[in-house]
Amino acid sequence: MEKITIEVSNLNKRYKNSLAVKNMNFKINKGQTIGLLGPNGCGKSTTIGMLLGLIKPTTGDVIINGKNMESNRTNLLQKMNFISPYIELPKKLTIEENLKVYGRMYGVKNLKHKILELMETLNLMNFKKRKTGELSSGQKNRVSLAKALINDPEILLLDEPTASLDPDVGDYVRGIIENFSSKKQKTILIASHNMIEVERLCDEVMMMKNGEIIDKGKSSDLISKHGRKNLEEFFLKIVREKNEIL
Ligand code: ADP
Ligand code: MG
Repeated sequence: MEKITIEVSNLNKRYKNSLAVKNMNFKINKGQTIGLLGPNGCGKSTTIGMLLGLIKPTTGDVIINGKNMESNRTNLLQKMNFISPYIELPKKLTIEENLKVYGRMYGVKNLKHKILELMETLNLMNFKKRKTGELSSGQKNRVSLAKALINDPEILLLDEPTASLDPDVGDYVRGIIENFSSKKQKTILIASHNMIEVERLCDEVMMMKNGEIIDKGKSSDLISKHGRKNLEEFFLKIVREKNEIL
């Protein structure tokens, strides 16, 4: 039997009067790469925030490697990492300094070597002494990815990792994520609006709407089940149809 890495049960998040995530249940097996799809405001970032223990669920549980996130956060976070559009790296630090800070936070061994390796892979060597706040969005994005990979995490949560990138840099970053996901036993969740990215990287997708997962499965199965030509058209169908039960 596959080993479950992420398990979410009856998860709800209420912000003041609105329910951002409604009764969410899913399991992700070790080694899987899963796409989290859905229109703006459907609850993707809130879900990822709860998986990381950064947002406290109103009710429900997040279980990572069999342990409850809320009571084992420090321990579990050592094996996790993430990219979030809401968390900026300190602007005044250089790329190298930023990676050093995060590397130490995770207790990375051979940190110097790891930073060099990541800067080389992510094409950052030419800017390593530059302050992070003075980088272009594509460069910043690659630094965020370097930070996300610094502890060689078992579980990687990516919230729109290529949203601000041109097609060339986007493709490059996707290649790096793909390469990482092909390493042994890496579990990845990617929230994305880029359907090509999702089809390329993800084993399966979960489609959200109004705070709920309304369908999930392999991209090809969802496309044929809904009688569409590709994932983009599947997305449009789901988003535009009324809230009838599928
Ligand atoms: P997505 O990432 O899919 O675009 P979010 O998880 O960011 O969606 O947001 C889900 C819903 O929760 C939206 O209606 C959003 O306005 C609301 N929301 C998100 N964060 C907050 C917050 N801190 N306070 C109040 N409402 C929020
Ligand atoms: Mg979001």
